[in-house]
Amino acid sequence: MIPTIGAGPGNPPNGLRFHAPLALLPGGWADDVTLEATPSGMLSRVESGAGEAVEGSSAVPLDGIVVPGIPNVHSHAFQRALAGLTESPPARPAGIDGAANTFWHWRETLYHFIRRLTPDDIHTVASFAYMEMLRAGTTSVSEFHYLHRDPEGGPYPERGELSHRVIDAALRSGIGITHLPVLYSHGGFGGTPPEPEQRPFVLPPDELVELVASLRARHGDDPRVRIGLAFHSLRAVALEDLLHVLDEVRADDPGVPVHIHVAEQVKEVEDCVAWSGFRPVEFLLAHAPVGASWCLVHATHVSSQEVDALAERGSVVGLCPTTEANLGDGIFPLPRLLAAGGRFGVGSDSQVSVNPVEELRLLEYGQRLARRERNVAGRSGGGPTGTVLFEGAVEGARQASGRPVGILRAGERADFLVLDPEHPDFQGRPPEQILDSWIFAGQRSPVRDVYVGGERIVRDGRHHDEEAITSEYRECLNRIASPS
Ligand SMILES: [Zn+2]
Repeated sequence: MIPTIGAGPGNPPNGLRFHAPLALLPGGWADDVTLEATPSGMLSRVESGAGEAVEGSSAVPLDGIVVPGIPNVHSHAFQRALAGLTESPPARPAGIDGAANTFWHWRETLYHFIRRLTPDDIHTVASFAYMEMLRAGTTSVSEFHYLHRDPEGGPYPERGELSHRVIDAALRSGIGITHLPVLYSHGGFGGTPPEPEQRPFVLPPDELVELVASLRARHGDDPRVRIGLAFHSLRAVALEDLLHVLDEVRADDPGVPVHIHVAEQVKEVEDCVAWSGFRPVEFLLAHAPVGASWCLVHATHVSSQEVDALAERGSVVGLCPTTEANLGDGIFPLPRLLAAGGRFGVGSDSQVSVNPVEELRLLEYGQRLARRERNVAGRSGGGPTGTVLFEGAVEGARQASGRPVGILRAGERADFLVLDPEHPDFQGRPPEQILDSWIFAGQRSPVRDVYVGGERIVRDGRHHDEEAITSEYRECLNRIASPS
């Protein structure tokens, strides 16, 4: 239970008050910081130098280094159970798209794996993935959800069955969620029919619009949940359907977050050019109203002109470095985006890692290896590398989520982390080097406590429901692995 403040002099009539000796605020590091939150979990006041540390204060002492919770820009929670199962080269020479030992073979393995998952399994796996994210410092997630039907492609009695399971998993674990129901229609560019394995992903455009509307009606008043919209990719969605669904959903929710996978693979770029004469990002920019509410996930293979245009439109690029490395996708040209003032977030995507710090580290190291330089993000972004990476990723993922998360100021969600001030890597270092030390020196996570909406979800590194969620996950993996 979180202590609730009484209505004493100077206190809010209801709500929570916290005190931190050191916190990362929008203007930089600040000492002696008071944070107040409403009962619904919104920050109502953030002030430094308020002298709340004095004995007898009613504030909850945070006793550590407070930083904003990190939003995850891109997740497929159910894929957590597949991590580690695709690391042997295929025995057969060719995968579903004729390419061996590549992304396309991984995708074939994924399709077979999905056939084993029940709605209960998806709830269990998502709960576990979200719990792990929370322990690592992720306080909200943009969940790109394309499982709509049963493994044979038949409808569940309730159209939103699997959306409900995933949102319930987020609420159970305590993570904030932007749930993004995905439009998926085709097996490739030009409207080719879906493969049989892709049938569980397919919903007709008007059913997708109805699903979004029903989820909004169900969760519209809950500050923990935002309903957005996603298009799987230009491979899987026809332009006229994309524009139609976008118009329909925006009629009810003009600022709806819109996410799409794009330009992840060279083959995808080549197929798009062969089909349309445009590269994928170029096609989107030319034909869709891509703007600040859009998140282009991966965007790995982009030209300098495409990067500059994305920056100019204010769109977010959703980067998933560990997944992109695991799948052999390629390296996004981050320096060009930063130099153009563009935005990015990091995501866990296939869940080969659910640690945002590992994503930031690999994001930077990929650039260093490719360019044979150091401090690439720091140089492009004009500051210490850890600060440029952390603040940039939080700001971009915040924008892509459509939720008020990632900034410690009044009017935002009270989502924050308390880092262990006794962590060996932080000793003798000024606040300006804490993020560098966390990202580039940490062998053990310094995340001690995690608060979401003012509620302590992780205490001393342990999630409040860790045993039950872990036990259910163990049983689930054993069940999936056993012959049916
Ligand atoms: Zn993805």
